[in-house]
Amino acid sequence: MRVLITGAAGFLGSHLCDKFLANGHTVIGMDNLITGKTANIEHLAGNSDFLFIKHDVTNFIYIEGELDAVLHFASPASPIDYLKLPIQTLKVGALGTHKALGLAKAKNARLLLASTSEIYGDPLVHPQTEDYWGNVNPIGPRGVYDEAKRFGEAIVMAYQRYHDVETRIVRIFNTFGPRMRLNDGRVVPNFIAQALRGDPLTVFGDGTRTRSFCYVSDLVEGIYRLLLSDEPDPVNIGNPSEMSILDFAKTVIRLTNSSSEISFIEPEDTRIKDDPKVRQPDIGKARRILNWEPQVLLEDGLNETIEFFRPRVLREK
Ligand code: UDP
Repeated sequence: MRVLITGAAGFLGSHLCDKFLANGHTVIGMDNLITGKTANIEHLAGNSDFLFIKHDVTNFIYIEGELDAVLHFASPASPIDYLKLPIQTLKVGALGTHKALGLAKAKNARLLLASTSEIYGDPLVHPQTEDYWGNVNPIGPRGVYDEAKRFGEAIVMAYQRYHDVETRIVRIFNTFGPRMRLNDGRVVPNFIAQALRGDPLTVFGDGTRTRSFCYVSDLVEGIYRLLLSDEPDPVNIGNPSEMSILDFAKTVIRLTNSSSEISFIEPEDTRIKDDPKVRQPDIGKARRILNWEPQVLLEDGLNETIEFFRPRVLREK
């Protein structure tokens, strides 16, 4: 296959580039580098099966030659990023998805949209199944991301139904691993960096909120299988093992052998407004139709991630 991956210099995009290249495909990576980093794909420089194009996908996307698949992964994806970049977040989820679909239609390619567990909002159904419609505040701080992704799903289904474009939608739950940005504000890099520096781990609220963390290699395998499957409707991909943020903080402290303490704080910005209280994917559908389930244990994935961050934290000193 010859595939286009938008957001190729980001955390998930760069791992997807690696996955497709390792499986013998040709990859065109696209990114405007507002949150992506070329460091994530610099190891691909010189690979004749890889081409990087710097481009903002909210504008017309021009690709020469044939394409078999378009994977739309471009978007700011951490709460502090989309608080800082609200308009870009809305545009890439809406206009960017439209451009990616137009390209897929023109090339007769399959399109896969990176959607998110955020479309379930602060969920009233637990664990979240694909048939749950969600509980999203459209005008809250997370609304720019959640509603852009919800619009993205709607326009993808419209292209599937009215233009017969073959489409896939993956709803991605919290994922972690090497190449996350140290300062992206999400709980995994925050806690690991704080533990490695010996600073207190900042647990927002009382630590009873829950998340379910999936290691990146499991996620990209699920996405790869979904692209090749016949499933036209959204599929959750994530790790169903759920834990409280307080327990997660304790796990990070133990694995880093850190002497850090835990501090319970209410951030001054709006980060925890509408912060989902619980989140856990129901992956029954992925198990059934993709024969997929996560393989990597949280602690093994965290150890890999800690080793990725350790030299980066040391370099700050
Ligand atoms: N969180 C926290 N301390 C931090 C960063 C995040 O307690 O320093 C909490 C946050 O309030 C949320 C969870 O950890 O309940 C996951 O946050 P993250 O920003 O990683 O992503 P989200 O799952 O909310 O999109």
